[in-house]
Amino acid sequence: MKNIAVIGAGTMGNGIAHTFAQNGFKVNLIDISEASLEKGLETISRNLDRMIAKAVISEDQKKDTLNNINTFTAIPEGVKTVDLVVEAATENTTLKIKIFEQLDAACQPHTILATNTSSISITQIAAVTQRPELVIGMHFMNPVPLMKLVEIIRGYNTSDAVTKTIMDLSKTLGKVPVEVNDYPGFVANRILMPMLNESIETLYNGVAGVEEIDTVMKLGMAHPMGPLQLADFIGLDVCLSILNVMYDGFKNPKYAPCPLLVNMVRAGKLGVKSGEGFYDYSESRKAETVAKQFKK
Ligand code: NAD
Repeated sequence: MKNIAVIGAGTMGNGIAHTFAQNGFKVNLIDISEASLEKGLETISRNLDRMIAKAVISEDQKKDTLNNINTFTAIPEGVKTVDLVVEAATENTTLKIKIFEQLDAACQPHTILATNTSSISITQIAAVTQRPELVIGMHFMNPVPLMKLVEIIRGYNTSDAVTKTIMDLSKTLGKVPVEVNDYPGFVANRILMPMLNESIETLYNGVAGVEEIDTVMKLGMAHPMGPLQLADFIGLDVCLSILNVMYDGFKNPKYAPCPLLVNMVRAGKLGVKSGEGFYDYSESRKAETVAKQFKK
């Protein structure tokens, strides 16, 4: 397996493309938005520069990595010759189902279709294809080039052979794969999202401000990043979608998203990617808190 396609060049898609390309794979990076493709390539280039500065890679390796990536705006054109597709488009069930129908029609019969979804049922996505045994969850963590874990999710029909192929492939990328079953939120987000949601609820209830909540979790629990800052990095829209999938999937009110999270997403405050979430990421106030507006 040497030729792959990545669907979506956003937060995760560009990191996934970077990781495969740096490990010698030819990557077709596909996004409906030219602007996302441009921004994705800029991010990859900047992250490779950071690796050069830390002497992790050489200038030549940067050049080879960038040369391994081609960009496309149409799915059929970008996937017809690849052996694996990793889908990392927006976390939305209807959208992913549409993409998998397109992929199933455009890819060769042997091509494995993986999704980086954080929470949506692999079995549901696989069911719209003629190859459910070749559909699998390959859930990378953010930032992809740095984070070791890949959660490998077996749908109801995913074959043993495909699971083994994707577990082995993850190892060749220098990652540590963990195999889990297909239930809402899988393992990572089933545990992480209730904590992030509870942090937002704590803020919403006026118990403490943004910095105070993050400081308690950083210094008290040895978390490298506070939960509100982590939510900003993940994307508040992504957090909301994941919580809604778990809420719908388990029919349990403990997964109901906090009204403050819902309001922030409605207001376009999505975290790092929109320039503001719980913190301000605009150039003038980079990472300075906007916590005051939430304090009671
Ligand atoms: P994002 O919003 O940063 O990027 C999504 C990209 O998908 C955008 O560039 C958008 O233009 C593109 N897109 C939308 N429709 C498309 C289509 N039909 N064809 C091609 N491209 C399309 O989102 P993200 O944070 O990168 O999340 C992508 C996936 O990864 C989601 O399923 C999410 O749940 C999952 N994920 C996210 C994180 C995280 O920390 N953000 C972590 C693990 C997994």
